[in-house]
Parts: sequence; structure tokens; C-alpha cells
Amino acid sequence: MLRYKCFELHTHTVHSDGSFTPQHLLESALAWQFDGIALTDHNTMSGLEAIDETLMARTLPVIPGIEWTTYFGHMLVLASNAYIDWRFALPHTIDDYIKKIKEAGGVVGIAHPFEVGSPFCTGCCWDFRIENWDQLDYIEVWSGTFPHKRFKNELALAWWTELLNKGARLAAVSGRDWHGLDQEEKVLSSATYLALENGIITAATVKEALARGRSFVTLGPCLDFRLKRNGMACGPGDSLTPGNCELEAGIDENQRRELWQDFGIKGKRAVLVHNGQELASFDCSHNKHPGHGFRHTSPCELAPGWARLELYGSCMGAEDTLLGFTSPVYIV
Ligand SMILES: [Zn+2]
Ligand SMILES: [Zn+2]
Repeated sequence: MLRYKCFELHTHTVHSDGSFTPQHLLESALAWQFDGIALTDHNTMSGLEAIDETLMARTLPVIPGIEWTTYFGHMLVLASNAYIDWRFALPHTIDDYIKKIKEAGGVVGIAHPFEVGSPFCTGCCWDFRIENWDQLDYIEVWSGTFPHKRFKNELALAWWTELLNKGARLAAVSGRDWHGLDQEEKVLSSATYLALENGIITAATVKEALARGRSFVTLGPCLDFRLKRNGMACGPGDSLTPGNCELEAGIDENQRRELWQDFGIKGKRAVLVHNGQELASFDCSHNKHPGHGFRHTSPCELAPGWARLELYGSCMGAEDTLLGFTSPVYIV
């Protein structure tokens, strides 16, 4: 049985340009109520040497990773069984490098694709030219803390949507690109939830969730998105044949609530997005039962393509702003 767990998938320590020691990062992630993190220092995995089973047992599990930091873009590689040399990757040869990572068992994602590049942040903007999107597992659709990066995140959401419309299968994740302790007392940061087999966190279960696209991204409320037919329920990452089905949506505003409730976050409208267009929209500001959250079911008809759930509401004084979204169910 799949159970969602909460992750921060993009972190740095003093082993690259972060100010966290590995131990401090794990303790901070625990305080942020994450269930697990990926360690993704720039071009090195040396921080893992400072993390042992005892530390993880006391704090949380760590998925080994690295952020390929090149002149042409930053790419996140998690749980690879071999070190793949990133130094000679060029825009037109990136597919060959991703193939090598996949052969070594890793999962691959694009980090902050619309970050400003040179001369402000060398290589931070994605300029690699991927031809074979089948090899890529995920895109960091939301990056950084909020609301600072809102515009870049809107561009990334539109790009991900365009790629899905072209037939790519790509999971959405968020990454805070967490480098150290916050200057402000309270910071709003999104999180990635991954559906893991029995909720067990290992490199293998996290890899599987990312490769299959079992994820949702949120500023707070948890999203439960299913398309049902004949007793079979398809969630993010699953495939369903076209035709009539039942949409089942759930919104739970209880998880990690103390971390986001002070930012005025309140889910008001859930939207079923089908091939980039709004197919159905429903009010989710009522019908809440303490401890159970909001639930909605309605019939829908889907053509080939994809469908995802999006949640809109209030946040930091803005109304009808995007609060979270799931990876797609694929209609094939
Ligand atoms: Zn980066
Ligand atoms: Zn980074």
C-alpha cells in the first residue's frame, strides 16, 4: 500500500556552498517535520561521510544525491550506484550523460530551470538540450522559498505543462535549495510528498516514486487525487485508458500545519486540469470535518493525455493563488 511521506529533495552543506554541517542540516530538517531529505551538494557527495546510521536514526533518512553544477544548467542526480563524471557534458551531449546515470540506477531531475544565469549565477539557468525526455524523471517546478521565486516558478510550471502536452512523463517536485539557517524568523517553503510502498523510506522506494511520478507539491495542504473506474483507483504516476471515470479529490489541512498556518494559507478551489486546460473546478472551502478534511467526487470524461489536480486559495494576502498541485495521471 502506498503512503505519502514529506521530503526536501534539494539541500546543501559546508561540503559545497551551504552553511549547514551535515548534522545541522538533518536536525533542521527534522525540526521542519520532513520525513526524509536528499543531500545534493554541488558536484560532491563527501557530505555523506559525516552521516551514519546513528545520526539518521536520531533524525531522519537521507537519500544520497549530487547537484551537477555546470555552465549549462544544474541537474539533480539521486541514488546513483556509480559516480558519473559531469565535467565534459555539453548542451548537445547531455542525453548521453543522463543515459549513463540511468544505467547506474540513478534518478535525474532538472533543478530551478528558470533561475537567472550568468553573470549572476553561472549555469543556474537550464540551457542543456534534452532530446530524449523519456530518460528524465522529474522537474523542480517550484524552487526556493516563497514568495521570492514566484515568477520563475510560474515559468517552470508552464514549461512542465508544455512538456506534458508534448507527451513527456515527468514528475513534479519542489526544492528549497536549502543552504543554511534562515535570516527571517518564519519562512514559507513548499514541500514534496512522495507516495512510497508502505511508507518505507529507502533510496530504492524514493527512486521508484520519482521514476513513476508518484508525487505532489504543496505550500501546506495535502492533496489526494484519484481517478476511479470499475473499482480501480489511479493516482499520480498511474495510467488509465480514456473515457468516463470518477474524480476523487481530498484536501487535508492538518499536516505540518504549524509551519504554514501563519501565512494565511487556505484552500478554496480545487481544479482538475486535463491536457493543460481546466476541466472541472469545485469549491473546497466548506465540508470540512475536523481531522478528515475535504472530500469530493464527481464524474468526468478524459481524452488521451494527462490530468492533474491543482489547489488554489489564499496565501500571504494574495487570493486565488496556486497552493499545490499533483503529478499527472496519464490517460493512454
Ligand atoms: Zn543549483
Ligand atoms: Zn542547489
